[in-house]
Amino acid sequence: MTEEKKVDRIPIKATKEMGRIMAAYYHELHEASRTRSKKIAWCTSVGPAEILRSLGFLVHFPENHGAMLGASRMATDMIPEANAIGYSPDICSYLTADVGAYLKGVTPLSKAYKGIESIPTPDVLVYNTNQCRDVQDWFAWYAREFKVPLVGIETHRGVGDVNQAHVESIASQMEAIIAPLEEVADRKFDLEELKSVLALSRECSELWKQVLETASHTPSPLTFYDATIQMGPAVVLRGTRQPVDYYKLLLAELNERIEQNVAAVQGERHRLYWEGMPIWGRLSAHAKLFATLRTCVLASTYCNSWIFTAFDPDDPFSSMARAYTELFIVRSDESKEQYIKRMLDFFNVDGVIYHDAKTCPNNSNCRYGMPQRMEELTGLPSLIIHGDLNDLRMLSDEQTQTNVEAFVEQLDEKKA
Ligand code: SF4
Repeated sequence: MTEEKKVDRIPIKATKEMGRIMAAYYHELHEASRTRSKKIAWCTSVGPAEILRSLGFLVHFPENHGAMLGASRMATDMIPEANAIGYSPDICSYLTADVGAYLKGVTPLSKAYKGIESIPTPDVLVYNTNQCRDVQDWFAWYAREFKVPLVGIETHRGVGDVNQAHVESIASQMEAIIAPLEEVADRKFDLEELKSVLALSRECSELWKQVLETASHTPSPLTFYDATIQMGPAVVLRGTRQPVDYYKLLLAELNERIEQNVAAVQGERHRLYWEGMPIWGRLSAHAKLFATLRTCVLASTYCNSWIFTAFDPDDPFSSMARAYTELFIVRSDESKEQYIKRMLDFFNVDGVIYHDAKTCPNNSNCRYGMPQRMEELTGLPSLIIHGDLNDLRMLSDEQTQTNVEAFVEQLDEKKA
């Protein structure tokens, strides 16, 4: 194993402002939950948040909470609580960690934000199965627990090209959830309000795309590990002004780095693409491991998932239907392979890391021969890391380190 070496990493200055925005977001939700002054909707991470915001809901995203449980390394201890009530250790560990934490009455929010003792109580739960069925089961559990309505959108799976039939079916489901949401919100839906929210979401998406694309520069000013932190506002605040202002700030800083040739990984020798879920409890450890090896993991499908180029405020329902169906996770293997190929070319990488996340088959793309097909298509080598997004019992740190070091040696030899 490589000896621990000191790695100098230059922090992103804008992160301080992001911390302020995220704190305000959680405090607003907490206050609304405490006083019942505003209606609260829970939404899946790529669910119809724009419709909810247009109806005046504050929006909580349980997957974001699941990721916080992972990043704070609380998740592994929470999962058995959900297993004990019948939710298998093999299903989504966001779900089991989140439900487990609720049953235990704990949240990482209380450590991160003074005065917040619990997650916000929902008035309604809204899902889209455009990522997996687990979100539906997850929200159904809370619907029974809180005795609040559950509404959802059922998306097609294994989608090749997104066609008019897909768009019409999803758009009509989106329109159908308006009436039950109006009832909970106690206000009428306003199309102009939706258009304004969607315009902000679109702007956020454009800026987030530009942020991620800065990593195409050599050396990259940004790592995948930075991006998993920086994506917070795009996930939980899209449709509002705050992420738009924040990503302008962040983009300016990254462009300044590019002008000054400031590398996120000093002495960048190799450039890698990450395919699959992050391993939240090891973000920092893995960032250090790759930096020590002068290897920059700089782009990922995961962080790109909050780019919605199809959003069009002039055609809100159809464009939302298209954007939320064009997502990588819900597509056919052929479409996924074409997408990954475009990304590998664009970011000019030397190899790919696939994360085989034990509890997320939906976002583990290395179980049906894709790495082999991609190697044949691109000539780029790949490595599979076995682990999990949240359940650290599924990960061997020693094995991961040994495999990563051997993979980087292989890249060295290829370049020699
Ligand atoms: S996509 Fe994976 S990690 Fe995300 S909610 Fe579904 S099963 Fe969980």
